[in-house]
Amino acid sequence: MLRLFNTLTRRKEEFVPLNPPNVGFYSCGPTVYNFIHIGNLRTFMFEDILRRYLKFKGYKVKQLMNITDIDDKTIKGSIEAGVPLNEYTKQYIEAFFEDIKMLSIEPVEIYPRATEHIEDMAKLVKILLDKGYAYESEGSIYFDVAKFENYGALSGIKPESSQLQARIDHDEYEKQDVRDFALWKGPREGEPSWDTEVGPGRPGWHIECSAMSMKYLGETFDIHTGGVDNMFPHHENEIAQSTAATGKPLARYWLHSGYLLMDKAKMAKSLGNTFTLREIVKSGYSPRQIRYFMISAHYRKQLSFSLDALDQAAASLARLDEFVRNLRSATCSDSGDTRVEDAAANCEREFEEAMDDDLNISKGLGALFTFVRAANEGINEGHLSESGRKRVEGLLKRINSVIGVIELAEGDDTPDDIRELVEKRMQARERGDWAAADQIRDELKAKGIVIEDTKDGFRIKHI
Ligand code: AMP
Ligand code: ZN
Repeated sequence: MLRLFNTLTRRKEEFVPLNPPNVGFYSCGPTVYNFIHIGNLRTFMFEDILRRYLKFKGYKVKQLMNITDIDDKTIKGSIEAGVPLNEYTKQYIEAFFEDIKMLSIEPVEIYPRATEHIEDMAKLVKILLDKGYAYESEGSIYFDVAKFENYGALSGIKPESSQLQARIDHDEYEKQDVRDFALWKGPREGEPSWDTEVGPGRPGWHIECSAMSMKYLGETFDIHTGGVDNMFPHHENEIAQSTAATGKPLARYWLHSGYLLMDKAKMAKSLGNTFTLREIVKSGYSPRQIRYFMISAHYRKQLSFSLDALDQAAASLARLDEFVRNLRSATCSDSGDTRVEDAAANCEREFEEAMDDDLNISKGLGALFTFVRAANEGINEGHLSESGRKRVEGLLKRINSVIGVIELAEGDDTPDDIRELVEKRMQARERGDWAAADQIRDELKAKGIVIEDTKDGFRIKHI
């Protein structure tokens, strides 16, 4: 039974989707005004682990991640760069997709862009105006926080009477500072503007997530996630806008990940303490090592970035790689001893129990390493049977469907086109056509695959 910590109730709750086995899942995505940093990626990684684990449990996931391609920051950036907004954001959208691919973050089902859903947002603002939850002032439209009784249910931040009727135009504002926030901003010199049913202008930041999540997932869906800094005001405002419009809860389970820290402070563009994934890869760490580092701590805990921590992650990953090599190169025997199979069964159970407990991945990885130690011993003492090896391959594949860091390419995961090339190369070698074999080796290399010849045949390595 999967239990998740719901920020809304501040408890771990059994996860029961509205329409099993389907799960509707919305994650707040990147604001594409610059390269994303690894702090952002920590949150996207948590969302990836949650997504993968839901699939592990047999759920059918429909996940959305929005791309904020219009807000205060993107507009400011495009004006400073002197290029149109869509041209300015395009490069960072592409970089975002490259980054998540590099880290083996699974693509979600839909990546809706704010600029492609302006009509949907205007429609929602219109409903809020008609219902009396929104008002106009100097060409912009604001949400009237005082009208929404339950404001603050998620974050616990309730408006004080002195804060009511105070307005804020900025998309982002300080903790504790409850204000009537802008749903729609009237046209301003140099800013993009759309003509809509609520007049000309452009949306505020918060309205996009309400409009797009409800459009694709329905008025109430299962899971909504983001980093802990999204909780207030962004998620609080999403709830206010959506529930005021529909009379229904927006999402049933709200999950928030802890910060990635740099020298004890939140990693954030505004503090100038960020690293991009590209920068860390350039300094010699592989995306797999970085992924391992990011997933190794529980998602709600803060995680401190340091080269030492990356080195530790690299060492743990090397032990897993070593185990896979040991498993595959071992000579099987039929001693009748089932200790490796038994350890595999234990590990699978313990991994699932740990992950069922609000994605306790540190405990899950602990179970994996306990297994690796026991299995290495069993293998070295000659107790691995052919069926035992298959069982362990199955276990690794299943756990890796969640953690996504173990390199299992030699098994069934090798794509067909690569497999075909490898076979062609073997045939060329068998006929003594070394030129053809070398040419295919180069072709594979261009696809990021290296063939290492060993005494038992060859090994496929991803570079
Ligand atoms: P943004 O592009 O600023 O809207 O952020 C995208 C996502 O990254 C949001 O879910 C944020 O909560 C998250 N995020 C930003 N900084 C950090 C950090 N230092 N650690 C973890 N998550 C972060
Ligand atoms: Zn959002």
